[in-house]
Amino acid sequence: MTEAELAAYEAGKNQKNPRRRLGKEVPRMKASRVTKEQLEDRYEDFDGLCAYCRREMGINSEIDHIIPMAKGGLDIIENLVYACSSCNQSKNSHDLIPWLRSRPNYEEKLELKLLSVFPYLPLLFLDYYE
Ligand SMILES: [Zn+2]
Repeated sequence: MTEAELAAYEAGKNQKNPRRRLGKEVPRMKASRVTKEQLEDRYEDFDGLCAYCRREMGINSEIDHIIPMAKGGLDIIENLVYACSSCNQSKNSHDLIPWLRSRPNYEEKLELKLLSVFPYLPLLFLDYYE
């Protein structure tokens, strides 16, 4: 080992990441597999309205996980909708269908629209679909 190599080794010794210690580029974790195009399509699926109340979201649109991440929901397009912040906060980590039906402004057409975009929903809420 040359003196230069030794110096470089000593400098990198305290790095926690062994790849960085070797001077290699550390691969970045992908935050999400969802593309911009998928999100735009999803926005259009609900005509740019909140998926849960069908009202204008304005600048307050938020992305909600249908199955909450806290309950194992994935960060994939099949699990994402745009919702107004009011609905998003209200839904929180509740299960979608019971939460939706318990809302004072519930209308069947809200649910039918969700089912048209997410046809797997009845499989998750068998007790609600007979
Ligand atoms: Zn809403």
